Amino acid sequence: MGHEPNAHERGADDDLPASDAEWRSELSEEEYRILREAGTEPPFSGEYVDHKEDGSYVCAGCGAELFDSETKFESGCGWPSFYDVDDGRVETRTDTSHGMRRTEVLCGNCGGHLGHVFEDGPEPTEKRYCINSVALEFDEE
Ligand SMILES: [Zn+2]
Repeated sequence: MGHEPNAHERGADDDLPASDAEWRSELSEEEYRILREAGTEPPFSGEYVDHKEDGSYVCAGCGAELFDSETKFESGCGWPSFYDVDDGRVETRTDTSHGMRRTEVLCGNCGGHLGHVFEDGPEPTEKRYCINSVALEFDEE
């Protein structure tokens, strides 16, 4: 059995899957549910909630660099939380699902759902990017 390169190893510059069927074959069931169907992992379940190593977090869907470990903080909310992100790495849009008005965070490269951003984070941005571990992969520095 050969090792199939995952999205991360292929690099961010490769062509993105063009259809839901292609995404389905690229991603695990849980990755697909979160990245492509805007699902949410259960709080405190994700592998990066308490992750403290130095490096960067990349999109599990396409490998694009998203968040830096320097902006990660302990929010206590149960999901990996970041207070900042470089321009262009993510996109946001208003999400009114589940009877709430929230700001959805999407990968700026592949449009995959990452999580939500709230206005109750620490200084200097006061933002809290609340991101699913499943939508991330970690790159050690
Ligand atoms: Zn992506």
